[in-house]
Amino acid sequence: MMEWTYAPAPESASLANLKQAYRPFVDGEFVDGGGEPLKTLNPATEEVLAEVGTASTEDVDRAVAAARRAYEQVWGPMPGAERAKYLYRIARVVAERARELAVLETLDNGKPIRESRDVDVPTASAHLFHHAGWADKLEYAGLGPHPRPLGVVGAVIPWNFPLLMAAWKIAPALACGNTIVLKPAETTPLTALVLAEIAADAGLPPGVLNVLPGAGDVGAALVGDGGLDKVAFTGSTDVGKEIQRRLAGTGRHLTLELGGKAANIVYDDAPLDQAVDGVVDGIFFNQGHVCCAGSRLLVQESIAEEFAELLRARIETLRVGDPLDKNTDVGAINSRAQLDRIVELVAAGDAEGAQRWTSSCPLPERGLFFPPTVFSGVEQTMRVAREEIFGPVLSVLTFRTPDEAVAKANNTPYGLSAGVWTEKGAKALWTAQRMRAGVVWTNTFNRFDPTAPFGGYRESGFGREGGRAGLEAYLAE
Ligand code: NAP
Ligand code: MG
Repeated sequence: MMEWTYAPAPESASLANLKQAYRPFVDGEFVDGGGEPLKTLNPATEEVLAEVGTASTEDVDRAVAAARRAYEQVWGPMPGAERAKYLYRIARVVAERARELAVLETLDNGKPIRESRDVDVPTASAHLFHHAGWADKLEYAGLGPHPRPLGVVGAVIPWNFPLLMAAWKIAPALACGNTIVLKPAETTPLTALVLAEIAADAGLPPGVLNVLPGAGDVGAALVGDGGLDKVAFTGSTDVGKEIQRRLAGTGRHLTLELGGKAANIVYDDAPLDQAVDGVVDGIFFNQGHVCCAGSRLLVQESIAEEFAELLRARIETLRVGDPLDKNTDVGAINSRAQLDRIVELVAAGDAEGAQRWTSSCPLPERGLFFPPTVFSGVEQTMRVAREEIFGPVLSVLTFRTPDEAVAKANNTPYGLSAGVWTEKGAKALWTAQRMRAGVVWTNTFNRFDPTAPFGGYRESGFGREGGRAGLEAYLAE
């Protein structure tokens, strides 16, 4: 029998316009940071992409002071309709430079080009457009007749969606009249710095946006800076808790978007082929480095066997490899540290007696990769059922009744997202109403839209991003 294969279809790395060195962006200029420069790697090859200057504590102070000046003298007093023009311009240039940004994101992060091209970059641009539209309509947002900006925002973001998370912070902050100092993740600083370049080209007044690369110590210096009015953090629950403790009693505003361990519930009446694709997308999208990943599959016992077979057959077709290849479904794990964590949690699953199945797909000889993996026979007490693995690893549990599905789905310290698969609308609504999760998808998963609020309950944090609710995090009455 003739076997159909895919010829390689690599996107050219040269489209990224990669520079040898990048620098912090403070008060409208790229400056030599006082911190120790870092090297950012391409996780698919472990080769150095570029050297990146980092911020010292003095740079943090200077950036916060610049943001304060810009807030008081320029951006705060500026009419919303004028602020909107800058945001529209930035949104348009992000769309125009989409291909470059997608390739750069894939190089720095390891995610498949198909995802950076079709999800990260267009969604980042959409988020900027959406909030540009709000800038002159804030008094109609239902947050009082004269909503006011908070002032200077310090934002810290993770490495899994570097450009998109930057846009999620910058767009609402600036639309609402705040200024911002942003710290991107240590392993993925590049697209946020290109976004700063785009903002500068758009004529954004100096100090309105500042980008400070660096490691966790720069993040800690930023969130602890007494000159801020608000901290917006996306990252792990542990660091989020630490920030919350530090800000307690300071009167500074805080929103936290933290981890998750989402349940994806498949009822026996679900359209199975569609559900299989949704479950696969739910956990293997972005190598599973997704806070809202559907990492716990809850499947009704009567279809568990059949579903497991369909799932394995589908996962076998996933291509793991060169993130720049347009045929690649699963790219590289972002860092050695993250790969080690995945390996450790998978070993814990083995030790606790879950049954491990791994795709037979070949892995590239070099670079940081992990094969799509499924644990079945998972008990609720196991670490693979409780802890966020943040990798391409799915844990499968079963249930018999809708009540049991709900109880198991909610048996987690997190509460960011959930999925429900059923043919019956009433059952979908019944289940969704009982999920203690900020977002519940029905017969779909991982859908993001700037008009829809996103955020968590319990250890997944508080505050919303996107939509009218997201504006509330950047405004005072
Ligand atoms: P992390 O260690 O908490 O890092 C997040 C950011 O905080 C990074 O920029 C990090 O710098 C910085 N940081 C580290 N220590 C800090 C400190 N003490 N004070 C201030 N900032 C500090 O999280 P991660 O492991 O990189 O990212 C994955 C986590 O983010 C997962 O738990 C995931 O669920 C969560 N996440 C949540 C959402 C959401 O919307 N809810 C979205 C995406 C990701 P370095 O880069 O140098 O470490
Ligand atoms: Mg990198």
